[in-house]
Amino acid sequence: GPVNPGEEKPRILLMGLRRSGKSSIQKVVFHKVSPNETLFLESTNKIVKDDISNSSFVQFQIWDIPGQIDFFDAAFDSEYIFGGCGALIFVIDAQDDYMEALSRLQMAVTRAHKINESIKFEVFIHKVDGLSDDNKIETQRDILQRATDELNDAGMDNIHLSFHLTSIYDHSIFEAFSKVVQKLIPQLAVLENLLDIVISNSKIEKAFLFDVVSKIYIATDSSPVDMQCYELCCDMIDVVIDMSCIYGVRDIFLSRARDDGAFDNESASFIKLNSGTVLFLREVNKHLALVCILREDGCENRGIIQYNFKCFRAAIQEVFVARNKQANKSTGHPQ
Ligand code: GDP
Repeated sequence: GPVNPGEEKPRILLMGLRRSGKSSIQKVVFHKVSPNETLFLESTNKIVKDDISNSSFVQFQIWDIPGQIDFFDAAFDSEYIFGGCGALIFVIDAQDDYMEALSRLQMAVTRAHKINESIKFEVFIHKVDGLSDDNKIETQRDILQRATDELNDAGMDNIHLSFHLTSIYDHSIFEAFSKVVQKLIPQLAVLENLLDIVISNSKIEKAFLFDVVSKIYIATDSSPVDMQCYELCCDMIDVVIDMSCIYGVRDIFLSRARDDGAFDNESASFIKLNSGTVLFLREVNKHLALVCILREDGCENRGIIQYNFKCFRAAIQEVFVARNKQANKSTGHPQ
């Protein structure tokens, strides 16, 4: 079949007890729902296959695991679900008693690891907006201790768990998702390298490669990430998309699918802040956009930035086409 850049996507499974916050995370990260609106969500009680495959670089499913779920029940095709999954995110409600959640985590991890040894396990210690700073650290320490002790006791000390403090009321949930997704991108080093080249050749201070729909950054240059910069870039995406929605065609994602909308391959925007900072956004492909931060005097020659961007985009296309060829080869699909 035809090779579409970015077609083979990182697959993520979101698990956790009922009411831990899974649907809220999904709505806020992938569907632009505001955190307050999640108060009225109906609880999930079955596997939800969120079909974001046409709009996002990331693909994921939600799986509730309240008490009665039996991993060995034939109705749950765990071979299929864990087999094709890159990362398993387990959500723990930090505002609630988490003992039940910890024992469910243990079961899920053990089962998943048996089926697929390469799964990355990511624990979201969630709803930490309700905790004081001291309490956050203490909760994280306690959960980490108990979870790893339990694995060690079961003789599974070869399994590694990563922990993230998250909340849908700030950018921590996006930041955590970014870290999870980045681990699943085999070409991360190549992407980081390309971003380093772009920024040094264009007097750019910081560059993020974003999955536009989710505002997850799938790569950034090698300089450290400042949360404020990241938030600024997220806001930039919102502004550009809102502008495209209002002054472009009505449905931006529909228009992208048809390739004739306002937000397309040529979409670009410069925003100058009165602090002397300039934000630059440029569409890379169907899912991805480059967002950069630079100083005002660094963008005197926009032509150079645009030229360097074109080179960057061509390189990105190469990276993902190569990845798909590889994937097609290993699964035996015709190219
Ligand atoms: P699910 O059953 O795991 O899908 O859980 P829901 O997404 O339905 O969330 C249950 C409740 O937790 C809802 O009332 C949400 O508003 C709330 N919630 C989700 N995430 C957060 C968070 O980060 N902080 C706070 N304070 N509440 C949250």
